[in-house]
Amino acid sequence: MIHALNVATDEGDWQAILRSSVRSVKELQHLLELQDEQVDWVDDSEFPLHIPRTFIQRMEKRNPHDPLLLQVAPSKEELNSPKRYTTDPLRESEFTLNGGLVKKYPNRVLVIATQACPVHCRYCFRRHFDYSTNQLTDFQSTLDTLSNDPSIIEVILSGGDPLTLSNEKLDTLIQQLQRLKHVRMLRVHTRFPVMIPQRITHALVKILSTTRLKVVIVVHINHPNEVDDSVQQAIERLRNAQIDVFNQSVLLKGVNDSVQILSKLMHRVFEIGVVPYYLHLFDPVAGAHHFDLPEMSAIALWKELQSQLPGYLVPRLVREVPHQPAKTIQT
Ligand SMILES: *Cc1c(COP(=O)(O)O)cnc(C)c1O
Ligand code: SF4
Repeated sequence: MIHALNVATDEGDWQAILRSSVRSVKELQHLLELQDEQVDWVDDSEFPLHIPRTFIQRMEKRNPHDPLLLQVAPSKEELNSPKRYTTDPLRESEFTLNGGLVKKYPNRVLVIATQACPVHCRYCFRRHFDYSTNQLTDFQSTLDTLSNDPSIIEVILSGGDPLTLSNEKLDTLIQQLQRLKHVRMLRVHTRFPVMIPQRITHALVKILSTTRLKVVIVVHINHPNEVDDSVQQAIERLRNAQIDVFNQSVLLKGVNDSVQILSKLMHRVFEIGVVPYYLHLFDPVAGAHHFDLPEMSAIALWKELQSQLPGYLVPRLVREVPHQPAKTIQT
């Protein structure tokens, strides 16, 4: 049912993989051969379990602490967040323009292209985001807003994950964006190359490489075990089309909060052609406090990491602070 490596060809493949994602804790437990006493998961109807099988295949069986599993399994801890963990930690609602635009920084704007994702990451800072009112629905009004603001040179497609859109929709979107003369760069924030690498079809690469816009892809990899041959191939396809690929990670307790793991991660992504970009301090979102790390420990860890890596592999340690003009560098 799951396609082996090398078979990323047409749109039906990745859509079928996406549709067959695991959505029940029972099935997840069964696939990973975990005993009842090894798991303490909950069924959360608001932010349901959603994991593609292509990702589960990279997890270690019979290990309830697998770093890939921890990112996506809904722990009972989710129900016990202290009050300072909120539903909108980045106060995005204050920065939302109409039609799914979030404008926080000069020159660039983020477009909430869709609410769908190839996976539900339990620590996602948008897990409570009100997509019903803040999503790209009326594209014409979004375009109008963009065309009336010549200061915008970069449009960032985010979500959700913009690559859940069909190639046809993406193509239309990009065609319309490239007609705005002041827009020069198009950035795509996506976890697809990691979660469902089969998404990076030749047709998609063609769409991304034939626009006049300079395309940049930012992937999201938190642990070296996420990278296998299929991920490497997806990245190669992008790189062969002269598309630059950067990585952002989130610092997560129990997943990647060690110098050794982070160092391995930065080397690993670079080996496959991806440049480390951001290491995000955890955003205090309700339901995910168990991933949080004291800021002092995070900074100490990053400093140690810096001493272990060549400068070009050191990610920028950042936190998003509402009303700051950029993601703030913390050292
Ligand atoms: C992170 C973010 C960006 C992009 O910021 P860079 O520092 O350029 O990566 C743009 N808009 C919003 C709302 C963001 O959260
Ligand atoms: S893929 Fe990104 S937007 Fe989607 S749940 Fe994960 S972190 Fe959130």
